[in-house]
Amino acid sequence: MKNKSYLFKKNLRAWYKNNRREFSWRETKDPWKIYLIEILSQQTQLQRANKYYDKFILEYPNPKKMAQDSKRRILKLWSGLGYNNRAIRLHESAKILREKSFNDLYPDFKQLPGVGDYTNSALLSFAYGEKVIATDVNIKRVIGRYFKKDSVDKFIKNNTKELLYRFNSRDFNQALMDLGSKICTNRNPKCTICPLEQECMKYINEESKKQEPFKNSNRKKRGQIVNILINAEKVHSSELAKKLNIEENKLNKLLKDLERDGVLYISNNKYIEIKSN
Ligand code: SF4
Repeated sequence: MKNKSYLFKKNLRAWYKNNRREFSWRETKDPWKIYLIEILSQQTQLQRANKYYDKFILEYPNPKKMAQDSKRRILKLWSGLGYNNRAIRLHESAKILREKSFNDLYPDFKQLPGVGDYTNSALLSFAYGEKVIATDVNIKRVIGRYFKKDSVDKFIKNNTKELLYRFNSRDFNQALMDLGSKICTNRNPKCTICPLEQECMKYINEESKKQEPFKNSNRKKRGQIVNILINAEKVHSSELAKKLNIEENKLNKLLKDLERDGVLYISNNKYIEIKSN
């Protein structure tokens, strides 16, 4: 476990350094800002929630401001985001926070409407720097797959100390959220470009099931394909086959793997390019 978690953290940290998503609230320690984005992003994609965050924080830089405002105005600002009961809960929380600060509630923010285990952990980690893992769906998926654990909650609970040893919990949580949403997605995870691929139990198990005798050389070839494509606008498959010195049918299989992972796009006339977002 020690070696596996060491490599997990080492590769995750290196990937996060160059691939983190930037949001204005990412560096804040203000619990109100963290609470706001957490409520906005429940059942909503982060990019979309972020647009609403910008509007809300401008209007309500602190809970007192929101508590003074009417439900009608808050719902108007919320309009288009859906699940309006979240706006109601936010308003109710603001009224509580007008009387009591986050520090008064610490460490149990579940006294606020809409705060469950996950949001409580997110507040403890992002606002208070506590050594806790904010077990959202992305984090659970990556850890569950990498360590091949069915009972992920139990595994995280028993191994939090080890996983967060020499790793700031804010960075750990945010890195896993980003990896889970960009690479280790629910459907069609992009294992071929994942920084955790070498040690990931899900990936290793699935690859060995395929009984692919040239697994390592295929992995290397896929890496070479991506390298060629990031330095060119598009390349024809025959040219790729020549550059890599492999037969076209073998190349096609590798290209299909990368296409399935959402890494590249293959046109009808067999030109290959990196898939745009
Ligand atoms: S190798 Fe695949 S399954 Fe494993 S963590 Fe990476 S994307 Fe997820």
